[in-house]
Amino acid sequence: MLEIKNLRASLEEEGKEILKGVNLTIEAGKVHAIMGPNGSGKSTLSYVLSGRDGYEVTEGSVTLNGEDILGMEAEERAAAGLFLAFQYPVEIPGVGNMTFLRTAVNAQRKARGQEEMDAASFLKEVRAKAKELKIDAEMLKRPVNVGFSGGEKKRNEILQMAMLEPKVCILDETDSGLDVDAMKLVADGVNAMRSSDRGFLVITHYQRLLDHIVPDVVHIMVDGRIIKTGGPELALEVEKSGYADLIGEAA
Ligand code: ADP
Ligand code: MG
Ligand code: MG
Repeated sequence: MLEIKNLRASLEEEGKEILKGVNLTIEAGKVHAIMGPNGSGKSTLSYVLSGRDGYEVTEGSVTLNGEDILGMEAEERAAAGLFLAFQYPVEIPGVGNMTFLRTAVNAQRKARGQEEMDAASFLKEVRAKAKELKIDAEMLKRPVNVGFSGGEKKRNEILQMAMLEPKVCILDETDSGLDVDAMKLVADGVNAMRSSDRGFLVITHYQRLLDHIVPDVVHIMVDGRIIKTGGPELALEVEKSGYADLIGEAA
């Protein structure tokens, strides 16, 4: 579904190469996790995939269902079915959360050649999904993310993801701490979205999230490359022994 081949990317301004030949294929229905030490390029990979400014791809290709996405603008990638959690502006004063969601959903439907969702259907769906994520109706009316706690922001992002029904979801877990309950809600939301026609890339510095979102495949990224790939047990190995052994092994 998402196929990344020999991807090399640099910071546009400094010309510093961060991704040094990443190869990764995410099949439909699978959850892939990327772990790795701080500064290894995990977030850079998610930014480059989402089309964020400031990065230059110098080599390689990325396709989504066979379609090249590197030539697309960020919005086109989203319309093609790529979702990056945390890609949306953190706070949008003056714009109600519900209005924002509806605009995002309808923009995407339009880009996909689908009709707009009518107000009643939208309301019904957003309420049902918000309820699953324990987001109360009051939060839907407030300006996007303004004054939301860290946990509320993350749940809100999972709500955006659930409403947009992407083909490939990329979750770049910031290292900012979520409490266990908030993390569990986020994980439950993700798990509820797992399906045979959707792929996930879960990026996380710590193993604990992977207790709740159990991946099919785990990759270890070090210095801009994937140095090892394995099953869920690889995450446990990292938890136990750290990255040093794996780095030594790869060297
Ligand atoms: P990770 O998410 O694995 O912690 P990042 O992708 O955030 O790693 O960072 C990879 C490397 O790129 C780090 O060495 C980081 O310092 C550097 N880097 C990323 N973005 C920038 C930037 N805008 N300016 C300077 N250096 C950056
Ligand atoms: Mg980091
Ligand atoms: Mg990061």
